[in-house]
Amino acid sequence: MEKNLIDTSKAVNEFMAERGWQGRSCSACSKIFFFKPSSKMDTPICGWHKCDKGACIFRTFSKRKKILTPAQISEKMVEYFDSVGFRQIASRNIANFDGQTDLVIAGVQMFDDIIHRNQQIREDKMFVAQPCVRMQFQQQVESQEGTSTSFVNVCTEKMGANFDEHLHTIDHWCTILSKLGLHMSDFIVVMRTSINDWGTGKFSSLELFFSYGGLELGDASYLFIPQVNRASIPISDIGFGLERIAWAMNKTDSYFDMLIPWTSSGSREMFDSCRTLALLVLCGVQAANKGPGLQFRKFAKVLSEKYYGQDIYHILSYYFDYWSQFIKPSISRDSAIKIVQLEIERFINLKVSEMLKLPLPRDETTEAYFDRLVYNFNVNIYNLRKAIQECKM
Ligand SMILES: [Zn+2]
Repeated sequence: MEKNLIDTSKAVNEFMAERGWQGRSCSACSKIFFFKPSSKMDTPICGWHKCDKGACIFRTFSKRKKILTPAQISEKMVEYFDSVGFRQIASRNIANFDGQTDLVIAGVQMFDDIIHRNQQIREDKMFVAQPCVRMQFQQQVESQEGTSTSFVNVCTEKMGANFDEHLHTIDHWCTILSKLGLHMSDFIVVMRTSINDWGTGKFSSLELFFSYGGLELGDASYLFIPQVNRASIPISDIGFGLERIAWAMNKTDSYFDMLIPWTSSGSREMFDSCRTLALLVLCGVQAANKGPGLQFRKFAKVLSEKYYGQDIYHILSYYFDYWSQFIKPSISRDSAIKIVQLEIERFINLKVSEMLKLPLPRDETTEAYFDRLVYNFNVNIYNLRKAIQECKM
């Protein structure tokens, strides 16, 4: 291990011990983790989902009296962090052009133009509730509880922070989590070092993962980002998943219970696809064959192939309103839904046209296409209705 990592992990050990945490090495993955002695988290295993097999025991912990929405929880965080000097800044558009990823995957990307375009370093203390998309979660949405391809990353960011400041900010996070009813004695904090490269060179970082009764809520990383023309930039980057915090607080059976319209039902994949698609379109992303638009197209394809005919446009507008709480829409809700509808129905129209050997569709809804087929081409109504049913299978 590098010398500065040894120093920082030593500082973490002292910091945790001062606050009554005990360190232990996980009997499954051998990582160091911290817990409060004689609490229910006093176990030989670190609580990482791969070590405890995703038990999510937090659902059995005592519940809050009143359920809160993610937006209400975020509001409480904004208020708290503001009182300790972290100013809230506006979230950025999900389509990212400065950094290494097509879509924003974490709040720390607010620094992408500084890290990748040599912009001036900013040292103010910031809080952001940043909507993010992580495509690698797509395969796990159905199989693993607590995952979604889009979520709000609530984070504090401080460029130029020294390690003490970083630890001090961790204290603030412990305070607000406790205030929200997530008590430290129900947490395990796992320490990990990792090697990263964000495109400006390799760097190692020390990370502390916060797991609440078996659910990973977020992590605190202290980073040293290499720069070509200047010294490496230290960053205190502490980020949590807002919807996971909401699940931990509300303790519903499923992560998605609070994240779908009350009157709807369906598969997690359907809701997740609508949710992420709504975020993309709200940010002005349109279907394309590469970049952010490719992800748009992939989700639209899933919806048209597997869920066409369900209440997807209603669900999409529900999520449009959800994301509007965290990011300024660059388009009206009606136009957003229309854009998604055209993309979803483009697949349907092509399929029907192929099935029945009909004139090719234009850039139009299925309703409009069928109108033309029936009134201009005298196509049999019953064949069209039957074809639509087959599309849904
Ligand atoms: Zn472990």
